[in-house]
Amino acid sequence: MKLHEYQSKELLSKYGVPVPAGDVTSDPAEARAIAERLGGKVVVKAQVLMGGRGKAGGVKLFDNAADAANFAKDLIGKRLISIQNPDGMIVDKVLVAEIVDIAKEFYVAVLLDRAAQRVLVMLSAEGGMEIEEVAEKNPGAIVRFHVDPAWGLADYQLRQAVKDANIPKEAHGQMVSMIKQLVKAYMESDAEMIEINPCALTPDNKLIAADAKVSIDDNSLFRHREYAGTTSDSAEHPIEAEALKRGIAYVNLGGEIGIMGNGAGLVMQSLDEVNAAGGRPANFLDVGGGAQAERVKSCVELVMMDPHVKGLFINIFGGITRCDEVAKGVLQAFDELDVRIPVVARIEGTAAEEGRKLLEGSRIVPAATVQEAAKKIVELSHA
Ligand code: GDP
Ligand code: MN
Repeated sequence: MKLHEYQSKELLSKYGVPVPAGDVTSDPAEARAIAERLGGKVVVKAQVLMGGRGKAGGVKLFDNAADAANFAKDLIGKRLISIQNPDGMIVDKVLVAEIVDIAKEFYVAVLLDRAAQRVLVMLSAEGGMEIEEVAEKNPGAIVRFHVDPAWGLADYQLRQAVKDANIPKEAHGQMVSMIKQLVKAYMESDAEMIEINPCALTPDNKLIAADAKVSIDDNSLFRHREYAGTTSDSAEHPIEAEALKRGIAYVNLGGEIGIMGNGAGLVMQSLDEVNAAGGRPANFLDVGGGAQAERVKSCVELVMMDPHVKGLFINIFGGITRCDEVAKGVLQAFDELDVRIPVVARIEGTAAEEGRKLLEGSRIVPAATVQEAAKKIVELSHA
């Protein structure tokens, strides 16, 4: 999950990384108030999850609050298009921040080097432009070094790196500290990538992160619930954003047969069988292990939020999950949601007998095997 610049800066400043003062808003009047509070000389930056905002016209410097507020008003609600993102993204928030007086621009990034199975630090005195451009024109200007998984970073390693990268002497100490802070933030927040570009050096030799991009490993988001739903950009599917909030693994697939099962493998098999039977799956949804009725209900709700869903296929193999709990959840959900579409359930394993009994007399059609269930739901939804 990519964090917005303002979220990235908030996170990094907790680790001591210097960032410009500023605030985020989606209201032009508030943008003006923030700009006034910062003395009028501000930069207004579109908070969209794409690179090249500067070139796309999403970053602009001002010397008074009124102009800054006007620009914010124009920007909010507008679609920004960049070379990296030709479809563009709608701006719903802007960051209003004090202008950093920039004498030199550097590049610093922490990321995962999958081949080396190590965290990699990239450092260059050629900041400001896209790093791909530096890599092409002047590859020698990028210094790379790994973080040892057992020992972490050694001071000599960092001092050598800043020297090799031609970072000016006045900034050596600050750059060494910043890299340590970035790596600590990276480890502790389960980041996949942190990029500071530009990392600015002011005329009075202060190092400060003028831009920041942090991306968090999606599989760790259960540990970082504070971000749930905060980056639901127009590009992201609204039901997926809602699922993220609820902590449910859901992927929209665009078809008509809603699918829920427990365990990623079983859900994948359900998708395959629905495809084989001539249907198109509407979604992937893993109810998870040991699900209680309440969670099952929440899952049914999610699937039903998709207006394209014409039939629901429930595929449960009870191990830790008790089938009667699943049945209870499904029935509760149907009571409250007024579900009118056909539903087929294949229920097997722990407490399957009790589960099936609960469903008897309901409008849920039972099936003995996954294949049979897939065929039935495809037939019924076309009817
Ligand atoms: P990006 O284009 O999405 O990477 O957005 P950036 O935040 O990096 O902004 C683009 C460019 O605007 C930067 O490379 C800087 O040249 C310029 N810029 C951004 N913030 C400031 C600032 O506070 N002071 C100055 N002088 N320039 C800035
Ligand atoms: Mn940038």
